[in-house]
Amino acid sequence: MTTVQTASPHLRVSAAKSSSSPESKQSSSTRIPPPESSAVDDHFFWTYTEEPHRSRRQAIIKAHPEVTKLCGPEPLTKYVVFGVVVTQITCAYLLRNTSILDWRFLVTAYIIGATANQNLFLAIHEISHNLAFRSPLANRLLAIFANLPIGLPYSAAFRPYHLTHHKSLGVTGLDTDLPTAVEAFFLDSLLGKTFFCTFQILFYAVRPMFIYSPPFTSIHLLNLAVQLSFDYALTQYAGSVQPLYYFIASSFLAGSLHPCAGHFIAEHYFFSKVKTGGTESLLELKFKPQAKTEGPSVLDGLSPPETYSYYGPLNILTYNVGLHNEHHDFPAIPWTKLHKLHEIAKEFYEPLPCHRSWVWVIWTFILDKDVGPWCRVKRAQGGRIVGGGSTGKNAPSGRGGEGISAASAGPSGEEGDGWKESEIQC
Ligand SMILES: [Zn+2]
Ligand SMILES: [Zn+2]
Repeated sequence: MTTVQTASPHLRVSAAKSSSSPESKQSSSTRIPPPESSAVDDHFFWTYTEEPHRSRRQAIIKAHPEVTKLCGPEPLTKYVVFGVVVTQITCAYLLRNTSILDWRFLVTAYIIGATANQNLFLAIHEISHNLAFRSPLANRLLAIFANLPIGLPYSAAFRPYHLTHHKSLGVTGLDTDLPTAVEAFFLDSLLGKTFFCTFQILFYAVRPMFIYSPPFTSIHLLNLAVQLSFDYALTQYAGSVQPLYYFIASSFLAGSLHPCAGHFIAEHYFFSKVKTGGTESLLELKFKPQAKTEGPSVLDGLSPPETYSYYGPLNILTYNVGLHNEHHDFPAIPWTKLHKLHEIAKEFYEPLPCHRSWVWVIWTFILDKDVGPWCRVKRAQGGRIVGGGSTGKNAPSGRGGEGISAASAGPSGEEGDGWKESEIQC
């Protein structure tokens, strides 16, 4: 192994720092005060503890070494991608003479288009972990192909931000899935949360640009050139710009008030303060199917959960992204095998709180005053940027070398940013 672990010296529980917590009256709590640099009154849950997935991964591998056999590319992915891309291009072409305000355009864009494009977002997510092919380059090219019906180039830009989300979960300034304090301050109201849920996709598209910029690579350039050429060719062939409008509308609705868009909020916002319950673990549901958690809970003093899974039927349309605890624990296991992982390591997953409906997630996020943009666990230190797409000599100093993908680290990896063998043993 050539990879060294030099760039994450802070991602450990710091006894010295946690002892300074003013809230140490709850000995089990890991909450610490927000960093002084916060521009507004900060209500995030700040902590020094390490993100939970790494230690659970190690515990699961110890208890069930056979889970590592689940890692590696899934050949089915490319066929699903091909089918969905063809479906979307067909719909776009058929709507070439239909006005954007026509109910047929809108209904198709919401029911087929948004679902298909959310599926493609999640195909690109899956592929970003090198889970469609063994060759990293083949994965990058498939992602660019999956990007076509999204209308705007995004697959290349998504990858480094997403791998960093894994490597630096909750780390402010690195994990671009986290709302900033300024966003949370302005959005923490019924109207603000409705606005956020309606325009979620724009937050995901724009926020990263304000956080940091990974290097612009030849893959970014190819993604841009292919997408613009495709958009141009399609509008020329159809003799109208409606197909492009259809793609953009599908992408917008996929990240708006749509059942599948619930996954964005379900994954990492904590719902532990919702008084009427709703996120009981599978274990609790087994024994108390109508569980309600009115009043104080023994869990109140603990760190809130950072990741929630959802095991419902919409996983079929979304590459099982609902199994998010499982995915963060083992990002090198493809979507088709996450249920198997859950089955093998049941005793680790059944006690965790989980969601039962993504529609409920959006509904509750907007209407319940106990959940909102402040409900995130944050870390001021640790983590690092990964997956910048650089190839060794171009790698930013101290940032290359390790990432969250299925390709093993080393010379065979296009970007040398696969799992460390000691960490994943795939
Ligand atoms: Zn995540
Ligand atoms: Zn991921």
